[in-house]
Amino acid sequence: MITLDWKPDKQNKTPIYRQIVKYISDKIAAGDWVIGSRLPSQRAMAKAFEVNRSTIVSAMEELISYGILESDFGGGTRVASNTWSLRMSQPPDWNKYIASGPFGANLSTIQTINKMEFEPGYIRIGTGELSPELYPGKLISKIFRRMPERIPNLGYLGTLGLPELGQALSAWLKESQGIDAKASNIMIASGSLQALQLVSVCMLKRGSDVYTEAPSYLKSLQIFQSAGMNLHGVPLDEEGLQYWNIKDASNESLLYTIPTFHNPTGTVMSEKRRKEVMAFCQKQPMPILEDDAYGQLWLDEKPPVSLKSRDKTGSVIYMGTISKTMAPGLRIGWVVGPEAVVYRLGDVKMQTDYGASSVSQWMMTELITSGDYDIYLEELRKELRARRDNALAALDKHFKGLATWKKPKGGFYIWLRFDKRLPMDKIFNKALKAGILLNPGNVYDYAENHAIRLSYAYADPEDLTKALEILAAIIEKHQKR
Ligand code: PMP
Repeated sequence: MITLDWKPDKQNKTPIYRQIVKYISDKIAAGDWVIGSRLPSQRAMAKAFEVNRSTIVSAMEELISYGILESDFGGGTRVASNTWSLRMSQPPDWNKYIASGPFGANLSTIQTINKMEFEPGYIRIGTGELSPELYPGKLISKIFRRMPERIPNLGYLGTLGLPELGQALSAWLKESQGIDAKASNIMIASGSLQALQLVSVCMLKRGSDVYTEAPSYLKSLQIFQSAGMNLHGVPLDEEGLQYWNIKDASNESLLYTIPTFHNPTGTVMSEKRRKEVMAFCQKQPMPILEDDAYGQLWLDEKPPVSLKSRDKTGSVIYMGTISKTMAPGLRIGWVVGPEAVVYRLGDVKMQTDYGASSVSQWMMTELITSGDYDIYLEELRKELRARRDNALAALDKHFKGLATWKKPKGGFYIWLRFDKRLPMDKIFNKALKAGILLNPGNVYDYAENHAIRLSYAYADPEDLTKALEILAAIIEKHQKR
């Protein structure tokens, strides 16, 4: 039974016919007016709403065009549907939807950085990516030219990815890093971030504990927190994370670590600490997720071997990537672990994106099996060494007395710690005004810190020197006040 117990608000800015459209559709959506019920005549509605007939006609036409109402044989109208939301010209309340998904938004500083990185004219002093100047265009062209003969088809691939790449990585990981892994222990992911995401949704319950170095790259992401895990920071010293501070860990926990050229501090876990961490985790037992994104980028001497290469019991899940050494846009990473683990991750990956790009996987296979990748890495180390030395020289010149830092032995980063408290938001904005985009240290940390993550990999060395001089002046001026 349809009763008209409402009147449009003539003072309201919304046109009256739209108010009527909303009233009627709300009634139907709420189930008050059921499908098939006849509406009162237009004349009756005009009278009840105290409006002109033409207003009713407009409202009816709109509702009929959405399929909410339909004309019936007797010349009247009746309710046709209550599943119109997709056809409505009024947008849904997206804010409500946007706030509802379980995956957390980026920190707002990171959103700003992500945006500003694509604005021209900024010197990016913290970007964790190789400079476009270091892009090995000739090598990539050579590899691309070989692709037509290598690629037999571009169909979907199996659970672990391209078998040829699995074989190639198995041999390469053994030779270059002493990691014993069969192709059946290796899963190809679309970058190591995806591997992290898969671990977070496949391997841990909500409420599990994930331990990381404090600070850690992982803290700047919402991956584990969004899946309901609790992230805990473990203090870090020159030798690596102080595992002995992990106390009363629950049965459902995991240690995520970047032991080699840590992001953001550049720390290398010492040989001794590696052994102790392995022993500690085995005793718990607590699985280790080893992120080795930067391990190949040693500049002075080879770092101690990875945790994975010491793993005799299948306690370590290891992640590698080509993003930091060559091309993040290829979106290729690899996970090495016990067969059951990589199959589990691969199975969910199949349900997520059916596999990483096969073009990228064939390219990666060719890069490794041709030996070109190792030759390229040698060249890259030389370039990065020169860039690191340039950055250190600029720091010596402009930051003595303001901050402290260590000479990194590899990777991209210098962790610049300020002696005094710094209002990082203000410094970030002032630097931005001066054309400098920086990565504040607190996005990686569990507590407030007064540090900046510098990267010598991205900005042109001369630009970096210039930017560091300007930044030092900004900070000095601030500290004098
Ligand atoms: N792990 C670490 C430690 C990183 O620094 C990054 C990139 N900043 C990633 C993983 C993500 O890399 P990918 O492009 O392989 O997803």
